[in-house]
Amino acid sequence: MDIDDLARRVLAGERRALARAITLIESNRADHRALALELGAKTAVAGREALRLGLSGTPGVGKSTFIEAFGKLLTARGLRVAVLAVDPSSARSGGSILGDKTRMEELSRDPNAFIRPSPSQSQLGGVARRTREVVTLCEAAGFDIVLIETVGVGQSETMVAEMSDIFLLLLAPAGGDELQGVKRGIMEIADMILINKADGELKAVANRTRSDYAGALHLMRKRPEDPEGFPKAMTVSAVSGDGLEGSWDEMRALADWRRAHGHWERRRASQARHWFEEEVRLGLLARLSESPEMRHCMKDLGDSVASGRMAPFAAAREMLAKLDAAR
Ligand code: GDP
Repeated sequence: MDIDDLARRVLAGERRALARAITLIESNRADHRALALELGAKTAVAGREALRLGLSGTPGVGKSTFIEAFGKLLTARGLRVAVLAVDPSSARSGGSILGDKTRMEELSRDPNAFIRPSPSQSQLGGVARRTREVVTLCEAAGFDIVLIETVGVGQSETMVAEMSDIFLLLLAPAGGDELQGVKRGIMEIADMILINKADGELKAVANRTRSDYAGALHLMRKRPEDPEGFPKAMTVSAVSGDGLEGSWDEMRALADWRRAHGHWERRRASQARHWFEEEVRLGLLARLSESPEMRHCMKDLGDSVASGRMAPFAAAREMLAKLDAAR
């Protein structure tokens, strides 16, 4: 494989080259890994920075409808948009619900858009880690916006927030008592809450839901990286398009403010550190499964823990001592 040529074509923004490069990144083969790292180094061009938008929401809330409409609004402004997904179900089944080909049909035909389903890896950590690499590759390919979608199920949201400049939570209109159902953790990482489906009969409920969340956000937190009025709750309709433009204005206002006040760089710096540490952590875990002896030891100690013969902490200590001894 000619990595120089592939790097050149990715930098020129060729979508087919980008797709090939991503396949390389997602491969688990050791030789592919080495090539992917080389590609990463060759495409790391200073100054190419996209706005990274994370988007989460439970199935059915309207994520794909929103991305289709919002993505088209952005490409109509001449912006190039890449859509990636972190799908926790792909970690379990090897298949991806977010990769469904019929989603975002119009956007996928738009020459200024690039849509890539979730990588299928055996672990969520693996899925997120590869997606994080792909984000930087999309920036190298000159995309202005990289939108990373995930399903609202705990850990995957945190991982996507860790690779986003702005994290959006999409919610459906609902009665006040359902406010309790949204985990506090997600409210803490969301920069904007968008109440979708604010159209037709649902409009009034959506407005009420919005003010409930606005109140809750206001009570909950004030972070130094938020300007006045953020985190913000807004209503949108992915179907009618109402509120999409307004939400884009707010995203830009937030991004500009953070850039002007140094929060942008700080956030990216701490995210880079996080992914470095995560990579080391995953690398150490991989070491454990590479050596047959370590694998057996993990299995035996795991069995001891499962059967109650050993406490988890004691077993972990013993495992780490084995690792030390093996060096
Ligand atoms: P996802 O699972 O989060 O990707 O949700 P989808 O985008 O597939 O949407 C789920 C359902 O909600 C579909 O039937 C959509 O037509 C509908 N839907 C999405 N956005 C809106 C909206 O803004 N208004 C209304 N009324 N329905 C919507």
